[in-house]
Amino acid sequence: MSLIGKSISEINKLLMSKEASAVDIAQAHYTYIENSDKSTHAFLCLTKDLALKQAKQVDSLVAAGSMLPPLAGVPLAVKDVLCVSNYPNTCGSKILENFAPIYDATAVKLLFEAGAVCIGKTNCDEFAMGSSNENSAYAKVANPWNLDYVPGGSSGGSAAACAAGYATIALGTDTGGSVRQPASLCGIVGMKPTYGLVSRFGLIALASSLDHVGPFTRGVEDAIRTLAVMAKHDPHDSTSIPEKSRGEENNLFSLLNDLPKIKNLKGLKIGVIKELTGEGNEPGVEAAINKAIETLTSLGAKIDTVSMPKVKYALPVYYILNPAEASSNLARYDGVKYGIRDKDAQDLLSMYLSTRQTGFGAEPKRRIMLGTYVLSSGYYDAYYKKAQRVRRLLTEEFNDVFKSHDLVICPTSPTTAFKFGERTDDPLKMYMADIASIPADLAGLPAISVPCGFENSMPIGLQFMGAPLNDRRVLEAAYAFEKATDFAKKHCPLLQQAELAKA
Ligand code: GLN
Repeated sequence: MSLIGKSISEINKLLMSKEASAVDIAQAHYTYIENSDKSTHAFLCLTKDLALKQAKQVDSLVAAGSMLPPLAGVPLAVKDVLCVSNYPNTCGSKILENFAPIYDATAVKLLFEAGAVCIGKTNCDEFAMGSSNENSAYAKVANPWNLDYVPGGSSGGSAAACAAGYATIALGTDTGGSVRQPASLCGIVGMKPTYGLVSRFGLIALASSLDHVGPFTRGVEDAIRTLAVMAKHDPHDSTSIPEKSRGEENNLFSLLNDLPKIKNLKGLKIGVIKELTGEGNEPGVEAAINKAIETLTSLGAKIDTVSMPKVKYALPVYYILNPAEASSNLARYDGVKYGIRDKDAQDLLSMYLSTRQTGFGAEPKRRIMLGTYVLSSGYYDAYYKKAQRVRRLLTEEFNDVFKSHDLVICPTSPTTAFKFGERTDDPLKMYMADIASIPADLAGLPAISVPCGFENSMPIGLQFMGAPLNDRRVLEAAYAFEKATDFAKKHCPLLQQAELAKA
């Protein structure tokens, strides 16, 4: 029997029945990765010593007949912007090629405490800037559905690792769509929770007011199981939502118990965002979304179209605020405290300059320039301040819609995966990939992408967004949709082969 491609509850059953040990499961994943990741480049570093140690701990709990924690033995891949202590953390950048943190990110630590087994750190766009994973300083990640295509970005390594079955859960980060967009392009589930629900402590920042940690999984139930563990107040993150403000109804462990009761979506009011559907999307994407609307209607949801004119400003606002915050966050990489240093420089200033010149790739440099420009005196009011105001107006527009609607939907990405090199010469075309995912980051809303179809054998994603702290409702709708369709059951060819192979 193959141990690859299992869900969290299947792994739990394998352990409880003693059909496989956690060490067997981890070893099977490493054998598979060592054979296959040569063509996908999803991992920057494998954390085998740690995985085997964690798997042995799980096996000793099984042997002792103890209660197993919720993610016991579950293979986990972690985007290389989230700290795992004592392993390299490059953020996909040369400037951090020799950096190893001394503590675990809170989200990672909570998953470890819940029994997850850390398989490795995944490849990503440099400092999480990108939509195709072509900005990694190390290697281009290939989409496991077709190796000529990009997996999306910036968490492309995590998306590919989960879609290919190198791990059951992969962690990503979503600042402008980097969990949902690659999930859509790789045919899996990607969830960005409400801002502040999951701690950012130990996440190396891109744009702090926009950064979210979120899971990739091959089904909605696994996303709920993962988020239930990670969604916890953290005193180390000043923007982490206090426990008392989260609302009992948002408790995701109780949602797990209620899942069998979810049979339809009767009474749910869903708005289709006019400005993000229709023109601008590939015809195949549009057709899949229309089909999804029919499915949701047949489940009992009441669906109408909502107009959100401010959504068209999301992209320009994001590309002012993101570079502004990024330029400030990246100022710390100066050769003094972290990462590489030009040792031949003759004085301090030339050491700073040459370290940053050689350490950063083109996209971080572009954003540092844009960001320092929009923050500089004389331009601050014209760009940064105005963008913040429009961000507020967009958030208010969402608040208004959520007075009459439970959720809003649109495609996650206007296109399916594109070929390598297709957009690298045109940053604006690349930025368009996130047109439908950025609004939820600016407003801090919970949002999920679930598989909803295929075009030329490449996956398409449907996005649900909800009001802040309505993560539960977003997950419930996504779960009902997934149960009513077969898209999530279809795995990429690479994983299908691995599932058929003998252990
Ligand atoms: N593509 C977007 C960007 O480059 C999103 C990045 C992200 O979500 N990390 O900024």
